[in-house]
Amino acid sequence: MDELTLFTLALGLNKPWEVIDIKFSKDVGRLDLTIDFPRGSAFTCPACGAGNCPVHDTKDRQWRHLNFFQYETFIHSRVPRINCKQCGTKQIEVPWARPGSGFTLLFELLVLHFGREMSIAAVAELTQVRANRIWRILGHYVERARKKVDLSGFHILGIDEFSVRKGQDYMTAFSDIEASRVLYTAESRRKEVIGEFAQDLTSREYNPAVIDLVCCDMWDPYLNGLATHLPKANIIFDRFHIMKQMNEAVEEVRRAEQHHAKCLKKTRFLWLKNPANLTGQQAATLDELTKLDLKTAKAYQIKLALARFWEIRLPGEAKRYLQRWYFWATHSRLEPVIAVARAIKRYWQGVINYTLSRITNGVVEGLNSKIKTAMKRAYGFKELGYLRTIVYLVAGKLCFD
Ligand SMILES: [Zn+2]
Repeated sequence: MDELTLFTLALGLNKPWEVIDIKFSKDVGRLDLTIDFPRGSAFTCPACGAGNCPVHDTKDRQWRHLNFFQYETFIHSRVPRINCKQCGTKQIEVPWARPGSGFTLLFELLVLHFGREMSIAAVAELTQVRANRIWRILGHYVERARKKVDLSGFHILGIDEFSVRKGQDYMTAFSDIEASRVLYTAESRRKEVIGEFAQDLTSREYNPAVIDLVCCDMWDPYLNGLATHLPKANIIFDRFHIMKQMNEAVEEVRRAEQHHAKCLKKTRFLWLKNPANLTGQQAATLDELTKLDLKTAKAYQIKLALARFWEIRLPGEAKRYLQRWYFWATHSRLEPVIAVARAIKRYWQGVINYTLSRITNGVVEGLNSKIKTAMKRAYGFKELGYLRTIVYLVAGKLCFD
């Protein structure tokens, strides 16, 4: 077997395509393969499928292919336009690349594989391809895979903001909570994003009215958008976010009090951590502190009481418990705690609705950590379109077959 035939086979080419020339330049570090077809070859019309269409003219093109060992490899070919009796002059598609791409399919698959495992800056470095071209490849395959996502069975929506550019801007992630995958991302956290998401679902032949539970933050723009676009869905406020606010309130009380109660200095995380995660020494210190007549200790007890609320599974019992908690919190004379209690009162039904769901912190935190991973992979790139692509790639559970 000669080397031309060998390369023809290695590239998986079928007649009439064959490798007709190989040029290897060791100095430049590259391999150039030329693919051609014999004179008189006929092709199938890409528009109507008619066979045996004669070549009208050709255009020289080049594609970047997988490296041959350490050598960058390029494929060259003249791509024919054919004459079809039905359709006229048509550009044919070559079997090794998709239309319009400057890379072979195998090269693009490699980029996609790397893009799921490492940062985009590293992919660009490794392949010696400019990052914006890497992003375009990823964008193409991600969008194609998103169109094929099976949305049947989706009915619990999670809405979460995430910060980009060091907290300067926010984007919104819409997730299928049960399947633990991000379905859509929007480039802000304004109320319009809910309508955008509903439209994206409709374009994928999914009826947004099927969504019956929405788990989100107490953020009015989302709530306003939901009232317009998903009016029938029950809203559930995310336990994770409410406890975060409660922890912030405890810390605010502690920070103010430590000026005259020195024993509170350097105890910040003792009050914030889950008691079960403290070491023996930390638990003992905390125990001593809670025996003192401190405002911080009182705020802490109120926090623990709120944490117990999430374990209640009966709506009637949950409501009675929260009412008692609310009374206690609002009579605590601790302003930051009262502010949290008032916020809960304002969104009362959504908080009680938590008992309806089996949404665990684990799923929500798992999605958040995938989004964080995605942001790390995109480090150095600020284009919101790129950030959307990388979130789908890392957290979308897409299938690229
Ligand atoms: Zn045709």
